[in-house]
Amino acid sequence: MAPVVALIEHADGKAFDTSLQTLAVARSFAAGQAVHALVLSSPIRLDLELGRNAVFALANDLGHYGVNVAHIAEHEALDSFAPDAWAAILGQLADQLDATAVFAAGTERGNEVMARVGARANLPLATNCIAVSAGDPITLTRQRWGGSLLEEARLNSTRPLVTVAPHAVPIETTEAETKVETFTPQLKEQELVVRVIEHVAAAGGGVSLAEARVVVSGGRGVGSKEGFAIIEELAGLLGGAVGCSRVVTSAGWRPHTDQVGQTGTKIAPELYIACGISGATQHMAGCKGAKRILAINSDAEAPIMLNSDYAVVGDLKEIVPAISKEIRANRGHAG
Ligand SMILES: Cc1cc2nc3c(=O)[nH]c(=O)nc-3n(C[C@H](O)[C@H](O)[C@H](O)COP(=O)(O)OP(=O)(O)OC[C@H]3O[C@@H](n4cnc5c(N)ncnc54)[C@H](O)[C@@H]3O)c2cc1C
Repeated sequence: MAPVVALIEHADGKAFDTSLQTLAVARSFAAGQAVHALVLSSPIRLDLELGRNAVFALANDLGHYGVNVAHIAEHEALDSFAPDAWAAILGQLADQLDATAVFAAGTERGNEVMARVGARANLPLATNCIAVSAGDPITLTRQRWGGSLLEEARLNSTRPLVTVAPHAVPIETTEAETKVETFTPQLKEQELVVRVIEHVAAAGGGVSLAEARVVVSGGRGVGSKEGFAIIEELAGLLGGAVGCSRVVTSAGWRPHTDQVGQTGTKIAPELYIACGISGATQHMAGCKGAKRILAINSDAEAPIMLNSDYAVVGDLKEIVPAISKEIRANRGHAG
């Protein structure tokens, strides 16, 4: 029987959680059909120490998430993100396997690549799904309006393209034997016209907002660009990333890459500390995957206070430095 195929995004030898979540949805759709995965890699990167072993180990490890065959596609142009090239390779693998569905995470890259796969092959794309069942028609549940609405949809297609809403479904583990194969893509020059040519590390960088285990965010209540010094300090002490609301990016206090929300990054940290943020639905759409939310707000009636696990009512300019001071004092005693 024809298999399904899923695109796996990865960095530093580790598959992204969003791709592993995607495999859970792909496996449930496959209902016994084989699950194939596509892992993209560059021989340039593979020359790096640990490079090749890391990519093969990653591909092999996908068995724990139900992948039967992992295809590693190597091409030197895959050293950086090239959406048309990724789409071409995913389309070629889906054709070769005669795949019954193609899956990717609903990340910025995943959605962009899948839109291109759809445009190239004239196939329908359903984005931000949390469940998909095979059948005629296929039935899907999609997140709409930043996750505040669930849409039940039907799709007629012999090869649906599906992206899975980030951090909306759990990762599922299993024990499948994985075969690792190499796949040689055919790329045309024009498919490499759009590609990332430089990475600029974010200021204060290190921990990526999307993958951070702790995120400390500031909103309008922080008051100014300079006011973020205390937010940065707390994030640094907790080994976390700094986030913010859209009011903050609109005011130019922080770059758009720091924005959490419907039109920003969707995050799922262990702890989200929201300082001076009211909790508008468009903001909550980005942080509701957080395991715990601590809200610090001078208004006890602010909507975020109802959506948080812990709430501190007061001035963030006093509370945030007090938390940092306490952490330092505790570490001092411990050390
Ligand atoms: C289409 C669309 C998309 C959007 N996308 C996003 C998005 O991706 N992300 C996003 O964040 N927003 C988004 N928004 C904007 C969103 O609707 C809100 O306007 C925004 O989130 C509010 O930001 P805020 O909470 O920082 O500001 P406010 O709503 O003004 O809240 C400020 C909070 O700070 C508190 N405060 C003030 N001073 C202090 C102090 N000293 N100490 C403690 N607390 C204090 C106040 O009590 C208040 O609760 C979007 C809007 C639209 C229409």
